[in-house]
Amino acid sequence: MSIYESATQAIAQELFAATQENRNFFSQLRDQARLDDKLLGWTMEHPGLRVQLFRLIDCLPSLHSKTEIARHLQEYLSDSSVELPGGLKSLLNFAQADSMPGQLAATTFTTAVQALAHKYIAGESTPQVLKTIDRLKKNGMAFTIDILGEAVITERESQAYFQKYLDLIQTLGEATVAQQPQVSVKLTAFYSQFDPLDEAGSAKKVGSQIRLLLRQAQEHRVAIHFDMEQYRYKASTLKILQDLLLEPEFRDRTDIGITLQAYLRDSYQDAQNVISWLQQRNYPVTVRLVKGAYWDQETIQAVQKDWPLRVYSHKTDTDVNYERITQLLLEHHAVVKTAIGSHNVRSQAKAIAIARALNVPSEAFECQVLYGMADKLAKALVGLGQRVRVYCPYGDLIPGMAYLIRRLLENTANSSFLRQSLGDVDVAALIAPPIPSNDFDLIDVHTTAEKESSFHNSPDTDYAQAEARQAIQAAFQTVRQNLGKTYLPIINGEPVNTLHFDHSVNPCNPSEIIGQVGQATVEQAEQAIQAAQAAFPGWKNTPATERATILRRAADLMEQKRPELVAWMVLEVGKVVEEADPEVSEAIDFCRYYADEMERLDRGYTRNFPGETNHYFYQPRGLAVVISPWNFPFAIPTGMTVAALVAGNCTILKPAAPSAVIAAKLAEILQEAGMPPGVFQYLPGPGSQVGSYLINHPAVHLIAFTGSQSVGCRIIEEAAKLRPGQKHIKRVIAEMGGKNAIIIDESADLDQAVAGVVHSAFGYSGQKCSACSRVIVLEPVYATFVERLIEATKSINVGVAEEPGSGMGPVVSESAQKTIQAYIAKGQEECSLALEMPSPRPGYFIGPVIFTDVAPTATIAQEEIFGPVLAVIKAENFQHALEIANGTNYALTGGLYSRTPSHIAQAQAKFEVGNLYINRGITGAIVDRQPFGGFKLSGIGSKAGGQDYLLQFLEPRVVTENVQRQGFAPIAGVDS
Ligand code: NAD
Repeated sequence: MSIYESATQAIAQELFAATQENRNFFSQLRDQARLDDKLLGWTMEHPGLRVQLFRLIDCLPSLHSKTEIARHLQEYLSDSSVELPGGLKSLLNFAQADSMPGQLAATTFTTAVQALAHKYIAGESTPQVLKTIDRLKKNGMAFTIDILGEAVITERESQAYFQKYLDLIQTLGEATVAQQPQVSVKLTAFYSQFDPLDEAGSAKKVGSQIRLLLRQAQEHRVAIHFDMEQYRYKASTLKILQDLLLEPEFRDRTDIGITLQAYLRDSYQDAQNVISWLQQRNYPVTVRLVKGAYWDQETIQAVQKDWPLRVYSHKTDTDVNYERITQLLLEHHAVVKTAIGSHNVRSQAKAIAIARALNVPSEAFECQVLYGMADKLAKALVGLGQRVRVYCPYGDLIPGMAYLIRRLLENTANSSFLRQSLGDVDVAALIAPPIPSNDFDLIDVHTTAEKESSFHNSPDTDYAQAEARQAIQAAFQTVRQNLGKTYLPIINGEPVNTLHFDHSVNPCNPSEIIGQVGQATVEQAEQAIQAAQAAFPGWKNTPATERATILRRAADLMEQKRPELVAWMVLEVGKVVEEADPEVSEAIDFCRYYADEMERLDRGYTRNFPGETNHYFYQPRGLAVVISPWNFPFAIPTGMTVAALVAGNCTILKPAAPSAVIAAKLAEILQEAGMPPGVFQYLPGPGSQVGSYLINHPAVHLIAFTGSQSVGCRIIEEAAKLRPGQKHIKRVIAEMGGKNAIIIDESADLDQAVAGVVHSAFGYSGQKCSACSRVIVLEPVYATFVERLIEATKSINVGVAEEPGSGMGPVVSESAQKTIQAYIAKGQEECSLALEMPSPRPGYFIGPVIFTDVAPTATIAQEEIFGPVLAVIKAENFQHALEIANGTNYALTGGLYSRTPSHIAQAQAKFEVGNLYINRGITGAIVDRQPFGGFKLSGIGSKAGGQDYLLQFLEPRVVTENVQRQGFAPIAGVDS
């Protein structure tokens, strides 16, 4: 047992007793007259209600009329998952949202939520927060102020946020004299494009703001504390602060604080590093030790992305770690000041016990609580003679909602100390030392990630990790040393010489040649077909598991070569690193998924009866031609090619010219993985000659095409013609374009919606078939949405794709640039141009363009542009929005941002798209999770990365045998 344990117990008992005086017990809370108290009580008893109620509270600030609020009350709380306590049932007892009882319910509920918010938010204005501070001072408590404002998505917002802090510092400096005021800030709010991948760029932007802030703070004698946010930003945040605080101007500042989160598995190591840094610095700063407020988010992200779990799964491990770090910090009180931010009586008691035993001077140790969360504990701590600081968020209720939800979750979570200390509690158990779980696995969440298949997606790279950033930098160097090489067609396993070469260039800098690609002739296409025909019998008879094994080897090779493949993509087609990396994951997924799928299909099935056997099985179609686009230069050719191959077809890949080098990398991988000569062949060449020749050839059985609608339709038409000597009908799989829309309704979370639309519309310069090119916004939120959309778009860094700070690169080629420019000119004739961002030179750049008040029938609202051009369309109501969304020839992807359950249900039923995304961006489909593909003029074919896909590459057969001879049937023939 720790030497501090008995003192910890004694202090904890004392604190606990003080916090229990006059307390409202759980049951009393529930019986309170005030609805806000009752609501909290009910949520603790009813988990279904807790979820729906918090979701409703989240959406409340976006609802502008009582009728809307009443409607949402009913929609949310009448969900079948909700157990309604009597008090709430009576509140919902109205037939019409606009009736008197409906309006009354809306008012009652809104008042209750406002009352709840006021419990945790120290004021909505500066005078209000100054009043709160005064009250705290009278109670012997210090404060730190945080300006609420969760998502900064535009540079204008980050400037405004920064200015608010400068003003606040001045006000506080003038208003407070007795003690040094403190403000708490979040680094990501100072730069809307803060990105760990661009550590240097982010540091430069944020660093200049921090310097200004620290100077202003010094002038007004205000202390600054830096908060910590999601794990993704942790390493950059620590590095930026540590570098800056060593600069001569700031090195001796001791009124500065940083934050560590004990729920992170590497936080003890971080604390050790901070101490070493402070030993070098020689002037202390404060470390605020908290447990961490983003547990759910971190856990969900880790599961969704299949990244290592950065937070402890078990609360008890966080508590153990918290105490270890507390001790470490206090043992180094000569160099670090410690602030214990916790509402857990034991955590505070342990810190006090250690501080007392080590004679930590009072200026080097303080206790912190959040405003409204643990008032009694704060008082009890003051009673023990501790310095107590209260963290006071202030500001508007709307940005405050995310903060409120986090507090409500904490207050009502089963694992939280606050929740556990309600009602009749076993005090000894509550303040007992936390016991390590010794279980470092993911809990709960993994089991909720329901999966039928055992297939496992390849995780994208986490560029918040320094090693990942180093690996990609090294890959760029390697790839640059290999630019300009020659890539020849591969026929029957051998490279073949060509007369003509096509230069594939870097669209950011067209004078840079990525590779010289030998252009196959029609005669060479014929040779490839003959080689494929010769190889077919052997490949057809190769067991499916052997074919699958080659795909799995290819996947492993892709995993090994990931950084280089990313670098090739960035340089050849101008995709930024964070967009190119998921493409490698997708290609790997295609290999592994189709390998599994082929093994499944290869089993076929039998239906045997007495005297009769029936066997259903598949055979390959024969010779497949794959014609791929350049916009997913690695994933799409991989997907189509390996599907054809694993199904037993001999396959010729004709890549798109702008991405022929990356396709050559795929060819190298497939050869290295063991694809036999003639089975797979790489045939770069002009689409209209080589492509046409292959498509029209009577020996070809199947064409897998992804590309534009015009080429796709032509291929379908040509392939339908029976050529002399042709003994089969060709099968065409054609995945074509889109004119994808996102609908934004009144209840949408606009922070999320703006960010999602910007990413979906301008990611890879809008050159994705899934890209958003129309956004349909309901009238009540139109003006607000458009203003933020334009500001957020202006905040995108358009630049050279290779630069880590670039959010958007060029378009792929000069001809693409010209086509897009022609559409922009057409748009200017038809609609109102709201934004045209400048584009860098040289290179094929086009800055993002936004047209507003676009008529649904305008050319730019109907035709696929395939560039960074977004049409914003106003809709009168939700029905109208759906009609506009469905009013094109395409049906590929679509999206909806809404927190209205009935709108979500209607979109699911009526939005005509192959892939509908709700409350998220509409690009980035993941194999098996979101099989991808559309209908109408967006394509004919089953979804890529889904269970029906491989069937298209196979022909099903059934063999029935009468096994009865002379009335005698073998018993083995009977199968249930
Ligand atoms: P594209 O149609 O111009 O070219 C696609 C491929 O067809 C290229 O390899 C090209 O060389 C070849 N080709 C061109 N003319 C040919 C001919 N006459 N005969 C045979 N082959 C010919 O398309 P792109 O510009 O490469 O790609 C962008 C288009 O692809 C967009 O319309 C986009 O929406 C679509 N796309 C769709 C999906 C999907 O899954 N639905 C995915 C990615 C891209």
